[in-house]
Amino acid sequence: MAGRHFLQIPGPTPVPDRLQRAMHRQMEDHRSSAFPTLTRSILSRLPQIVHQTKGEAFVFPATGTAMWEAALVNTQNPGARLLAVRFGQFSHLFIQTARALGYQVDVIEEPWGEAADPAKIEAALRADTAHEIQGVLLVHNETATGVTSDVAAVRDAIDRAQHPALLYVDGVSSIASLEFQFDAWGVDCAITGSQKGFMLPGGLGVLFASEKALARVDACTMPRAYFDLRAMRTNNAQGYFPSTPALSLLFGLDEAITMLLEEGMANVAARHRLFGEGVRAAVKAWGLRECARRPEIASNTVTAIVVPEGQDARQVIDMAFKRYDISLGSGLNEVAGKVFRIGHLGDTNTLTLAGALAGVEMALCDAGIPVTLGSGVGAALAHWRVQA
Ligand code: PLP
Repeated sequence: MAGRHFLQIPGPTPVPDRLQRAMHRQMEDHRSSAFPTLTRSILSRLPQIVHQTKGEAFVFPATGTAMWEAALVNTQNPGARLLAVRFGQFSHLFIQTARALGYQVDVIEEPWGEAADPAKIEAALRADTAHEIQGVLLVHNETATGVTSDVAAVRDAIDRAQHPALLYVDGVSSIASLEFQFDAWGVDCAITGSQKGFMLPGGLGVLFASEKALARVDACTMPRAYFDLRAMRTNNAQGYFPSTPALSLLFGLDEAITMLLEEGMANVAARHRLFGEGVRAAVKAWGLRECARRPEIASNTVTAIVVPEGQDARQVIDMAFKRYDISLGSGLNEVAGKVFRIGHLGDTNTLTLAGALAGVEMALCDAGIPVTLGSGVGAALAHWRVQA
């Protein structure tokens, strides 16, 4: 199709020209005396993306899923007891990963479309008087349902219960787009991948670890090899990596950090807030509802939209792709067929999103969900015009 494809899934996100150019490089010797310049440029600035001043950041050739594993195997002994909240596909997979590694996970179930409830976390930790629970697993932004949980409130709940558990936060669809305060929220391990807020192809996993988490790495008895932070730390300290780094992606990441810091993390978060508000105004104008059950937990990086009873969201996605060259996110697991998702994160702006909303409107009508053409686009534009 002529024109450009609209990649409106919640990751991978479009790669800006500037990052494509940064990655379009010849390979280099990753053991040369010049290489540490790149490593240090990345590792010294990466913490600024999440407002981390203590602890360390790590980069692996891997993905977000792999970083769940890296965070756990370096800080939790075999069979350790953990507490997690399940309210969507990615919180579900985080739990499954921990269980596959042999950890015992107590699960607080929430309906899909809800967020983590700090009061329930506090109650579970208070009940654990022997302090057996070693860690709390939280997905900050549940990409499957378009719901953002309050990490600071979860930290407060842990503190109120006077519980020593470490706080593990999945920031795959929040870091580098939504506000993320690593130090202030008392996060111990935060993880992400390169393909969302960093606007790069998939292939890099990023792990931010607090001093408290790092203090557990050496004594941790969990078997680990590729994800062993001891080897990573020794090599990183010299400006190198234990195995061949994903060089093109590292060049991209270095430039992505520059771009994000040039914009300023507060501005990045404000831009995404505007996107979320505009898209939600469109959903309201269409007479549809979001999967997120309350406005205050609605995500500013992805909106999951529920189709009317008896309709199949896959039809909307298929029409959008085939007829209008726009990719939308599908419903996963429990919400398969019930929702479609609009990703609004990374290298995008209000005009691009206006085009995306136009494509969604036409696809909705074509799939037999009548909406007034222009209604959602109009509502979003009205919001953006006043706010921008
Ligand atoms: N966590 C969240 C919140 C995600 O959205 C995703 C992927 O979309 C993942 C984890 C898994 O990341 P990856 O696909 O990079 O392994």
